[in-house]
Amino acid sequence: MKYCLLSRGDELSDRLTEKFRELAALRGITEDEEEPDIVVTIGGDGTLLQAFHKFLHRLEEVSFVGVHTGHLGFFADWKANELDLLVSNMAEHAENRHALTVRYPVVEIVLKSRGGETVWHALNEFTVKGNNTMLVAELHINDELFEMFRGDGICVAAPMGSTAYNKSLGGAIIHPNLESIQVSEIASINNRVYRTLGSSLVLPRHHHCDIIPRAGQKLLLSRDHLLEEAEDIESIACRVADKKVGFIRYRPFPFWTRVREAFIQNDGS
Ligand code: NAP
Repeated sequence: MKYCLLSRGDELSDRLTEKFRELAALRGITEDEEEPDIVVTIGGDGTLLQAFHKFLHRLEEVSFVGVHTGHLGFFADWKANELDLLVSNMAEHAENRHALTVRYPVVEIVLKSRGGETVWHALNEFTVKGNNTMLVAELHINDELFEMFRGDGICVAAPMGSTAYNKSLGGAIIHPNLESIQVSEIASINNRVYRTLGSSLVLPRHHHCDIIPRAGQKLLLSRDHLLEEAEDIESIACRVADKKVGFIRYRPFPFWTRVREAFIQNDGS
């Protein structure tokens, strides 16, 4: 069993990264930056998003585990003072494979332009916005025109991202065992001329949606923390990806407990 480490880069996260390295060496666990089995992030949920994109090409082979150096996260659920326990769990797992890897859905995004096709994946969400202008786009569901969207943009979230940007947009929190994507509006214009549904839509695995921006629009596209400008996008297809993201669970931490602790009541973790 080989691991690699990714730090948020602040002083505390870097210090804990070094400590983790020492503890792992004592337990005889090997570090491998290129082909790890387990990717350990030290920082916050944002650090795990970076790790997800760094190891996207090995998503089927790696499992992630996150240590938080700030507040409790959705991806980063180990505390800074639990490094010893985490390393001993990893060492035990290397011996007897006692831990479970849970696999959760991510969003697949296919961007079509004159130049060809690009495929992206997002752990939290994909967004499309007008670049300094309103977004004007058709939203199709399963190849049928659903609505004409005018507003700031559209967000398509994976279940694990439903607690992030999606939640700020009034979307529902979706348990990550539900293989689905959630489409939410970002500040849509609704009046006697323009009309959109105004609610988030949750699509199951076998459904897809296409966003067709008005030709020639300048767009801002995001996948998780990564942002890009684009001008020549003809269509954007979103669906539940075939690949999944794996999190290694050395101990149970139910999703709804996380939601409660993050948003309702923090018991000091
Ligand atoms: P950031 O702007 O530094 O931080 C965004 C915040 O979202 C951080 O507090 C981060 O937690 C938290 N977060 C990330 N993933 C989460 C999840 N699945 N559930 C709950 N909270 C989560 O940017 P970043 O750290 O690079 O993260 C990029 C993410 O920011 C995007 O994927 C998007 O979801 C989110 N975002 C939210 C809004 C909004 O709510 N209005 C707007 C833009 C982007 P940590 O502090 O633990 O890292």
